[in-house]
Amino acid sequence: MPVFVEVALPVPLRQNFSYRVKDEQQTSLQIGLRVKVPFGRQQLVGLITAITDSCDLAPQQIKSITAVLDDAPLLPESLYKLTLWAARYYFTSQGQMLSQALPVALRKGLDASPQSTIEYHLTEQGRQLDPNVLKRAPAQKKLFELLLENPLTQDELTTQALSKSALKALQDKQWIEQKSALITHDLSWRHKLQMNESPHKLNKQQAVAVSVLTQQQGFHCTLLEGITGSGKTEVYLTLLETILKQGKQALILVPEIGLTPQTINRFKRRFEVKVAVIHSGLTDNQRLEAWRQARVGEAAIIIGTRSALFTPMAFPGLIILDEEHDSSFKQQEGVRYHSRDLAVMRGHLEDIQVVLGSATPSLETLQNAISGRYHHLELSERAGVAQKVKQGIIDITSQPLKAGMSASLINEMRMHLDAGNQVLLFLNRRGFAPALLCHECGHLHECDRCDAFFTVHQGLNEICCHHCGNQYAIPKQCHQCGSTMLMGHGLGTEQLEQELVKLFPQHPVVRIDRDTTRRKGSLEQQLQGIYMGKYKILVGTQMLAKGHHFPDVTLVGLLDVDGALFSADFRAPERFGQLYTQVSGRAGRADKPGKVLLQTHQSDNPILRDLLQRGYGEFARSQLTERQQALLPPAWHMVLIRAEAHLAQDADAFLAQISQLIPQSNELEVIGPIPAPLDRKAGKYRRQLMLQAKNRQQLQTVFEQVLSQIERLPESKRCRWTIDRDPQDLM
Ligand code: ADP
Ligand code: ZN
Ligand code: ZN
Repeated sequence: MPVFVEVALPVPLRQNFSYRVKDEQQTSLQIGLRVKVPFGRQQLVGLITAITDSCDLAPQQIKSITAVLDDAPLLPESLYKLTLWAARYYFTSQGQMLSQALPVALRKGLDASPQSTIEYHLTEQGRQLDPNVLKRAPAQKKLFELLLENPLTQDELTTQALSKSALKALQDKQWIEQKSALITHDLSWRHKLQMNESPHKLNKQQAVAVSVLTQQQGFHCTLLEGITGSGKTEVYLTLLETILKQGKQALILVPEIGLTPQTINRFKRRFEVKVAVIHSGLTDNQRLEAWRQARVGEAAIIIGTRSALFTPMAFPGLIILDEEHDSSFKQQEGVRYHSRDLAVMRGHLEDIQVVLGSATPSLETLQNAISGRYHHLELSERAGVAQKVKQGIIDITSQPLKAGMSASLINEMRMHLDAGNQVLLFLNRRGFAPALLCHECGHLHECDRCDAFFTVHQGLNEICCHHCGNQYAIPKQCHQCGSTMLMGHGLGTEQLEQELVKLFPQHPVVRIDRDTTRRKGSLEQQLQGIYMGKYKILVGTQMLAKGHHFPDVTLVGLLDVDGALFSADFRAPERFGQLYTQVSGRAGRADKPGKVLLQTHQSDNPILRDLLQRGYGEFARSQLTERQQALLPPAWHMVLIRAEAHLAQDADAFLAQISQLIPQSNELEVIGPIPAPLDRKAGKYRRQLMLQAKNRQQLQTVFEQVLSQIERLPESKRCRWTIDRDPQDLM
C-alpha cells in the first residue's frame, strides 16, 4: 500500500506539502520526524505532520522523500502543539513557525541526538612534552594544557570556542589523537542540588511572593510587579531553588543577553548546575549543543532571548520572563510572534508555572492580572537598604541650554559628581545631531529613499539614515543652495558627550549607544568601567535604561523626552511611562539616595503629570481605561496588514480590496488604507490596514475565512505585504 506524508516546510506559503514514502522508508514513520525532501530544485528539511494512505495530487506530480532524518520525534509533543497553535494564531504555516523555533543546524539536517562523538586525547608522545615549548603559539598551548587535564569532546571544543587551527597543528605534530566516545549525560543535579552561594535573607514581600509561587501546582501564570530594585531577581532565584530540587528545569527569557551580564551571572553563580545560555552571538553548532543539553535535561537552567522560548526541556518545571514589558519579546520581521504570549501558552501545554516579572508591566499583562486571569504579586519596596528616588521636573521653556542641558541640571550634576558619585544622562538619539541644517536657506537634508532626515555622525564624518542605512560623507555644500554654512541641528549622544568632556574635564565620560558598542566585547568593557568607577558621567540611549545595577549612580537626568510624548503611536504613553520609570530606576539602587530630573517644554502635559505624581502602576491603570474607551488593545484585538510597493497606489489598491472582503460590524472595524507613520522607507511606499475586533475568536474566524481570497488577489502580487497580529508599533 502506498504511503504518503504531509510535510511542514520553511517556505513562505501557508500550507503543508505532500510526498510519497518509499517502501524501505516506511518502517519507522512517525509524526514529528524530520525528513529531507526535494522542493523545486532544492532539498529542504521539514517535519512530518500527517501520514496518509491516499493523496489528492496526480501520481506524476508527487515526489518521494529523500531521507528520514530522525528516529524519534524532534520536539516534545507540547512544543509541536505550540508551533501548530502559533501558526494558526499568527496566520502562517507550521513550516514557517518551525523555522523560527528550530536551531539553524537542525533545519540543515544535523543529528539531533548523536550517540557518539569524537574525543581528543594527548598521545603518548604528547604527554611527555613540556607545555612551554608552545609558548610562542598561545592558542595551541591553551588547548594543550586543557588536554593535559582531561580529554575534550568535539562539542566541548565548540562550546568553549577553542581554535580549530591549533587543534590541527597539534594533530599534525602527532601530539593529539582522536578516539570515538559514547555520549553520556550528567543528570546528577536532579538528585543532589549543590548551591554555590547562600541566598539573601528575603524581606517580607519577597518571602510572601516566594511562598505563593512555591505552593502553586501545575499551570499558573503570575505577574510579579515589583518596582526597580525591589529584588525580583532574588525571588526568581529562590523559586528556582525549589524547582531544581524537584529535579525540574527552568527556562528564563530576558530581553537582551548582552545588556545584562550581571543578571545572567547571578543565575550562573548560585547553583552548581549547567546553565545553557542561548543568544544571537552563538555559532550554529554552539546553539545546537545548548539545545541538546536542554532537551536531554543536562542543562538545568536555560537562559535566552525571544527565540529560546522554543527550547525543549526533558523535565519542564518553570518559565520566567523577566522585563516582560520589553518590546524585544515581539519579533518584528518574518513571523511576528510574541514570546510572552507563546510562553503562557507553553506553560499551559506543559502544565507548569509561568512568571512574568516587571517594574513596568505591559498593559496586556496588567489587564490579565487585574481581571484575575493571572495571579498578581507585588513588591512595592526596594530590597536591602536602597531608598525610593526623589524626582523633579525642570521646565526648560525659554531657558538657555548648553548642549541641551539647563543650568539647574548642570549645577545638580556638579554637586553629585563632587560628592564622588556617578551621574547618568539619558538621551534617546544616537549620533551627533539628528539633522543637517543649512544656516543660509534653512534646508534640512533628507534621505533620498525615506521620509526622514539624515543623522549627522561627526566621528565617522558621515550622514546616515537610521531607517534604511543609507550613508554619505558629510556634504561640504547645501544640496539646495550650495552654501557651505552647514551645521548639525538638534542634539545626539555624540555631541552631548563632547560637550560634557569640555564642561567636566575632571570627570571621565562614557557613552553607551549602538555606535559605541558595535565591536564585540566593547559593551562589557564599558559596563565594567562603570562598575569600577572609572567613569563618572554615563551618557546613553535606552541601552543604558535596561536592568543595570549601578550602585554609585545617584543622579539620573532625562534630556529631551518631548518627542516621545508626541508620537502618533497609541502605545506611546505606555512606552514613555516604562522608559521613564526604568531609566529613573537606575538611580539610588544601593545605600545612597537617588534623584531623577526630567527636562521638558511640556511641564503641564497631563501624561507626564499623571506619571510623575502617581507612579507607573496608577498611571498604567488609567491608560488601560483610556484604551478601553478607545476600543484599542488590550481591550480590543488588532491585526495590522502592512503593504509596501514602489508605487503608493499598488499598496493602497491591495489593502482597499482586503477591506472590501472583510464583513464589518460594530464589533469588527477596519481602518485604512492609511500611510504608515514613516510613509516612505528605502524607496518604497508603506501603507497599512488595521482590523480591530471586540472578540478575539471572531477576529480569528473572519480573518481565516478571507485569507485565501486575499492571497489570490491579483493586487497581492504587486506589493510586499505582511500580517502583524497584536502589533507592538505602527511603524
Ligand atoms: P530587581 O530584579 O527587582 O531590579 P534585584 O533582585 O536585582 O532587583 O535586587 C536589587 C539589589 O538588591 C541587588 O543588588 C540584590 O542583590 C539586592 N537584594 C535583593 N534582595 C535582597 C534582600 N532580601 N536583602 C538584601 N539585598 C537584597
Ligand atoms: Zn542651503
Ligand atoms: Zn533612508
